[in-house]
Amino acid sequence: MSLVKVIPLGGAGEIGKNCTAVIQGDDMILVDVGLSFPNEEMFGVDIVIPDFTFVMENRDKLKAIFLTHAHEDHVGALPYLLDQVKVPVYTSEFTHAMIRNKLEEKLDVRGLKLETLNPGDIVEIGSLKVESIRVTHSIPSTTCIAVGTQHGWVLFSSDFKFDFTPVDGKLSDLSRLTKLGDEGVVCLLSDSTNAERPGWGPSEKMVAAGFHRVFTQAPGRVLITTFASNIHRMQQALDVAHATGRKVSVAGRRMEQTLDICSRMGYLRIPADTFIKLDQTTNLPPHKLVILTTGSQGEPMSALVQMSKEEYSRMRIQPGDTLIYSARPIPGNESAIWRTVNRLFRMGVHVVYDAPTPVHVSGHAYQEELKMMINLTRPYYLAPVHGEPRHQHLYREMALQMGYPDHRIFTMVDGRPLEIGETNAELGDPVPCGRVLVDNAGNAGVTDEVLRDRSSLANDGIVIVTVALDVDNGEVIGSVGVDAKGYSGNDAALRQCAEWVWDALRNLKKSELQDVDFVRHTVADTARRCMIKKAQLRPLVVPAVLEV
Ligand SMILES: [Zn+2]
Ligand SMILES: [Zn+2]
Repeated sequence: MSLVKVIPLGGAGEIGKNCTAVIQGDDMILVDVGLSFPNEEMFGVDIVIPDFTFVMENRDKLKAIFLTHAHEDHVGALPYLLDQVKVPVYTSEFTHAMIRNKLEEKLDVRGLKLETLNPGDIVEIGSLKVESIRVTHSIPSTTCIAVGTQHGWVLFSSDFKFDFTPVDGKLSDLSRLTKLGDEGVVCLLSDSTNAERPGWGPSEKMVAAGFHRVFTQAPGRVLITTFASNIHRMQQALDVAHATGRKVSVAGRRMEQTLDICSRMGYLRIPADTFIKLDQTTNLPPHKLVILTTGSQGEPMSALVQMSKEEYSRMRIQPGDTLIYSARPIPGNESAIWRTVNRLFRMGVHVVYDAPTPVHVSGHAYQEELKMMINLTRPYYLAPVHGEPRHQHLYREMALQMGYPDHRIFTMVDGRPLEIGETNAELGDPVPCGRVLVDNAGNAGVTDEVLRDRSSLANDGIVIVTVALDVDNGEVIGSVGVDAKGYSGNDAALRQCAEWVWDALRNLKKSELQDVDFVRHTVADTARRCMIKKAQLRPLVVPAVLEV
């Protein structure tokens, strides 16, 4: 029997860009192809995707891609991979519908093999068997992916919670998970996002009470911001609005698209006479309105952020409006979110973000739910993923307390294969792995050098040092010019910079002055040293060597 390899290419030791390869012999599949969001130091970076070098090196083995659910951290990098390899993509009807627009924006979808794998379906891929099992989460049709290997089931929990009163009435398939345990789960790759939270997470249905309280008490319009994909949350806003005599409208392109797709497919039920277009909202008294809006992560182009800057042409904020912040900040977005919330407060908006009756609940399992997943499926090995190292660590502690021996719990790291054999498993040698930064125009491959330059520019400005060079004779012509933009240091340092460069060039040999690259390097290096010493700044230094 050969080794079964499970290789996270993203999503292990981090929350984001989930992508894991499973390999048995000559068959490889990928589970999820997600993106993550840049941190605040990544200037001009729109999204971060996994480095697909390993996939491309093994492209002849890659048979299919499976998607657990339609959240960006599980599907967002798919267009970038499908641009390079054309393999079938299996996921639920709902997830396909949710990702189709994004695929169409970047690719010709006619050449793609988009295969439906609804909860409960099984498909054979070479020597592997893949089954989709329904779990509850904050988006419909979320599924565990169980991969049948020669050593037993490798089970991807996906993002999950055990919600016994789900908004759409579709429960986690506990009986199939239990049977899977009977058949033998060799390894569970589990969500560990909420490993810090003891007890059971509240049901999504709890949010209805929070909405009801605000809808009945707010004197004017109620705005709700949440993730554009949170259909259950939108459903509850629609239902509570209907019950309290308010009408609902939507601001923000992504949310409008989601509402349109989901209501057409029957995943969202719009109560009669409840939905109105945004431009009709002015005909109604404010206390009869609820407006769902994008912008829960403080995205600069979102409807809510534009409203908070009075730049949204379709709707204006009014004093007396109430905003429900019905989401959790993704790490890295906090300051953009609070800036938006503060602007709204200044405009006379009452923002509800931490109410005694919750207006947001997590879609991820708390500790007791994580234990329940383990108890149902009884895996031999445990591998916490979808968490930062602190979450993985706490998951390990929890499993140890449940009696799992240390050697059967693996703290997964991006790029380290978990190699499962007949009688043991271990972490193997690293494979090529990393991150690729995509800029605002969609270009993949913003390098670390580009990021460093942007960081210098943003922090300390730019200094351009101009030198005219007679290359044939190896002579500097005229004086050294120094120009600065976005620079806040003293002018004396700039003058000294010109002097330092002039002295450095005077000390070069004739042959060195005939080498333009050498001169460029000397100019940049000298100017940089001068700026650090004389201005205590590190601006981006650009040497402009003119050959005359
Ligand atoms: Zn996720
Ligand atoms: Zn998710």
